This record gives sequence, structure tokens and C-alpha cells, in this order.
Amino acid sequence: MTTVVERIKTGRPVFSVEFMPPRDEADEQRLWQAIRELEGLDPAFVSVTYGAGGSSRDRTLRTTGRLARETDLCSMAHLTAVNHSVAELRNVIGWFAEQGIRNVLALRGDPPGDVMGEWVQHPQGLAYAEDLVRLVRDLGDFCVGVAAFPYGHPRSADLDSDTDHLVRKLAAGADFAIAQLFFEPEDFLRLRDRVAARGCTAAILPGVMPMTTPKVLAKTVELSGADVPARIAARLDPLVDDAKAFRAEGIDLVTETCERLLAEGVDVLHFYTFNRSKATREVVARLGLVPARA
Ligand code: FAD
Repeated sequence: MTTVVERIKTGRPVFSVEFMPPRDEADEQRLWQAIRELEGLDPAFVSVTYGAGGSSRDRTLRTTGRLARETDLCSMAHLTAVNHSVAELRNVIGWFAEQGIRNVLALRGDPPGDVMGEWVQHPQGLAYAEDLVRLVRDLGDFCVGVAAFPYGHPRSADLDSDTDHLVRKLAAGADFAIAQLFFEPEDFLRLRDRVAARGCTAAILPGVMPMTTPKVLAKTVELSGADVPARIAARLDPLVDDAKAFRAEGIDLVTETCERLLAEGVDVLHFYTFNRSKATREVVARLGLVPARA
């Protein structure tokens, strides 16, 4: 099983995709349809997010295991420290190894329910993603990624300390970082510059999502923690009552963002898919990204 780092060092632009654990059977079917539709485009890797608890965690593990067993895709499992003792985390990581999963995105996670509620460390658990990076590294030959935040993590006091913590996670043994959503290419490029200015050369992958509906736009605001910039609002707001035109403009906008990133030397684009493939396929086709194995 290849690693994410091997798959993104092709010397030419590639893309990767993120899926979520399916909520029910219909969702599972949609997810597998999206996986099959994207498989032929040979994404550099596919990742599956880690649920907040209980059954959604089981569904994450089931999906990640199935990806490893039933497809040729390079898969990455997300893992969070939320409500887990170190012993439990060791078990999950051991299970990843048994399934042949070599790539782990190590995260602290958010408190279940209210993401900005008080973070309570499990009494036998870990405090920060940095600690999880070390644990995963100690337990096997894993390729490890971490999260990055173009506007700073909402709990960070300022961008400087936020960047310091990101660089510490990378120095603790992470191979690359994936960025949260952002609106303007420059917002991501400034994050990349801040990391580079600290002498860190790890790859930082931009997270992108085609803004196909007003609901997806609202999700981008929620996840990024930033307001819609006036430039983008001016293009999308007049179209809120015209679903087709909104979708077309949203695809244009994300394509333009990706083009600018590629022109700035970014060579991996990580798509948040919400388990649908169509918009990602459209943008990838417009960018002319060829299969990673070609
Ligand atoms: P950390 O890196 O631990 O940072 C948390 C806060 O603590 C930050 O403010 C940071 O600056 C600060 N900090 C870090 N280290 C230190 C230190 N040593 N001393 C003091 N302060 C420190 N959530 C899920 O539940 N499941 C997922 O699958 C998932 N996937 C994600 C994928 C991506 C690409 C991204 C960007 C986010 C994802 N999240 C996921 C959300 C993520 O878990 C939350 O944003 C969480 O609040 C932060 O996780 P982290 O790993 O960045 O935490």
C-alpha cells in the first residue's frame, strides 16, 4: 500500500478527495457511487473523516477498511483524540495497520455537540493533535497528516501562535498538512508562506469545495470561520433564486481559485466532496488534471 507522500510527489498537479462516514444505507450507496465515479480519475488519495462518537466511528472504520480491501485507491483514515483513552487509540491504530491502512490524519477533534464548547481531555487521553502524531508514529510505519487553518484555528489567540502550533505538529513527525476551507487563494498562500517562513518545508494541501448551492456556501462560512468576501458575494448573491446559474458560478469560482493555486506552485488540491462526486469531477476536468498514475 502506497503512502500519501509517495502519491503526491509526482512532480505534476494531482487531486485528492475527502469523504464522510455514511449516515444510513442510502447514504452508503451514494458514497460508494461517488467512490466508483472518482476511482477512474485516480485521485492521489482518498480520506474518510472520523465521526464524533459511537456508531459514526464504526461507520468510519467500516468505510476505511472497505476502501483498503475493495479498491486500489490510496486511502487515509482520519482519527481524533476525542473521548478516547490512549489504550483505545492504540487499538484503533493497530486495526488500521491490520487493514493495510498506512495513512492517518491525526486530529484533536472537537467536543461532541458544540464544537466551541469546552475541550475536555479524556483522563487517560491526549491533549493535542501533536501528541496523537507522536503516538501514531511510535506504533508503526505510518504516513501522518495534520490539519491546518488558513484563518487560524478558532481557539488560537492569533495567527502567529496558530502557525507555531502547526509547525510543532509537523516537527513532531507529520509528513504533510491539509488546510481547512478558505475563500480567496491568497488566504491559503499566506498560510503556506507563514509555515515556510519558519523553515518548515512540509507540503500544505489546500482544501477546496465547489460552492454549488447557497447551503454549501453557508457550510464554507461555518467551516472556514470567515465571512463571504464582497467579491464572491457580488457574484453569487444575485443568483440565490436560480439554482442552475448559482451552481455554474460556484463551479467557475472554485475553478478560478484552483487555477491560481496551481499557478502558485501548489500541486495537490484536496476536495471536500460531502460524498458526491459530480462537482469535483467537473472542476478536475476543467483543470485538466490527469490521473496520478498516468
Ligand atoms: P490541535 O492541533 O491540537 O489544535 C487545537 C488548538 O490547540 C488550536 O487552537 C491550536 O493552535 C492549539 N494548540 C495546538 N498545540 C498546542 C500546544 N502544544 N500548546 C497550546 N496550544 C496548542 N474533526 C473530526 O471530528 N473528524 C475529522 O475527521 C476531522 N477532519 C478534519 C480534517 C481537516 C483537513 C481539518 C482542517 C479539520 C478536521 N476536523 C475533523 C476538525 C478538527 O478536529 C477541529 O478543527 C479541531 O478543533 C482541531 O483539531 P487539530 O487537530 O487542528 O487540533
